[in-house]
Amino acid sequence: MSSRPIYSFEVFPPKPDAPVESVSGCFAQLADLHPDFISVTYGAGGGVNGGRLTCELAARLRTEYGIRPVAHLPCISYTREEIAEVLSMFRENGITDILALRGDKSPERPEKHDFHYASELIDFIRTQGDFELYGACYPEIHPEALSPAADLRHLKEKVDRGASHLISQLFFDNAVFYDFREKCEILGINVPIEAGIMPVVNEKQIRRMVSLCGASLPRKFTVMMQRFGHSPEAMRDAGIAYAVDQIVDLAANGVDGIHLYTMNNPYVAKRITQAVSGILGRSL
Ligand code: FAD
Repeated sequence: MSSRPIYSFEVFPPKPDAPVESVSGCFAQLADLHPDFISVTYGAGGGVNGGRLTCELAARLRTEYGIRPVAHLPCISYTREEIAEVLSMFRENGITDILALRGDKSPERPEKHDFHYASELIDFIRTQGDFELYGACYPEIHPEALSPAADLRHLKEKVDRGASHLISQLFFDNAVFYDFREKCEILGINVPIEAGIMPVVNEKQIRRMVSLCGASLPRKFTVMMQRFGHSPEAMRDAGIAYAVDQIVDLAANGVDGIHLYTMNNPYVAKRITQAVSGILGRSL
C-alpha cells in the first residue's frame, strides 16, 4: 500500500434500455480526477447481461481512460456456470480486479443456491484464474448479521479466503468507522479498509439510501437536512461540505482509503476532489 490514502470512485451502469454512451461523459470527467481505480456496480436487470454491461464499462475505463477498473460481482442469484461465464468475459477484457459480493436478496431475483455468501464466491473465483479480490464491509454491521461479533468473524473469513482489500458501506458518523476499524485490527483483519463516502446532495437521495442501508445519522447531519433540504443549491453545497469534512477527519486519522460513491455525478466528485486533493497527497 502507498503511504498516501487510496482514492477511488464508484459508478453504476445505465439502465439496460439506455445507451452505454450515456455515461461516457461522466467517465471522462471522473478520469480527469485521477482516482486509483473506479469500481463499476453490477448491471441493473442482473443475469449474465448485467455482467456484460459492467464488463463493457469497466473495459472502457481501462482502454479509453487508462483507469484501473474494479468490477462488482454479486453471486446469490447466479449459478456457478453463469459466474464462470461472466469471469471469462472479464478476463478476456483485461479486467482482473473484482469486488466479490453476495448481492442483496430480492423477490425479483430468486436465489439459485450455488452460492450463499461472498466468501464462497471468493473461493470459486480463485479456481477460475488470477484475479485481485475485494470485499464489502459494514461499519454499522450488515443488517442480516446475527450479531456484530458474528459479522466481524465472517468478515475475517472473507479476508482469510482471499479478499485483499475491503470497501465499506457508506456511513455519516466517522466515530462508527473508527470503532469498526479498531475491532478489525484486534481480530487481525489487516488488509486496507477504504471508507465509503456518499455525498448527499438532495433530500430524496438520503431517504432512499438510509432506508436501504440503515446508516445512522448524526445530529449535525439531520440538522443540515432540515435546514437546507428544500433548497437544491444549499443542499448540494452542504452535502459536498459534509463529505469533505468527513474525508478531512478520516485522513487526519490515518484512513487507508476513501471510496467515493459518485452516483455518476462528476460535478460533485470534482468539487470534493478539488477540496481534498492536497490533504490526500494528490495533485490534480
Ligand atoms: P457477505 O459477506 O456474504 O455477508 C452477508 C451476510 O451473511 C452478513 O450478515 C454476514 O455476516 C453473513 N455471513 C457471511 N458469511 C457467513 C457464514 N459463513 N455463515 C453465516 N452467515 C454468514 N449489491 C449488488 O447487488 N450489486 C453491487 O454492485 C453491489 N455493490 C456493493 C458495493 C459495496 C461497497 C457494498 C458495501 C455493497 C454492495 N452491494 C452490491 C450490496 C451487497 O450485495 C449487500 O450488502 C449484500 O446484502 C451483502 O453482500 P456481502 O458481499 O457483504 O455479503
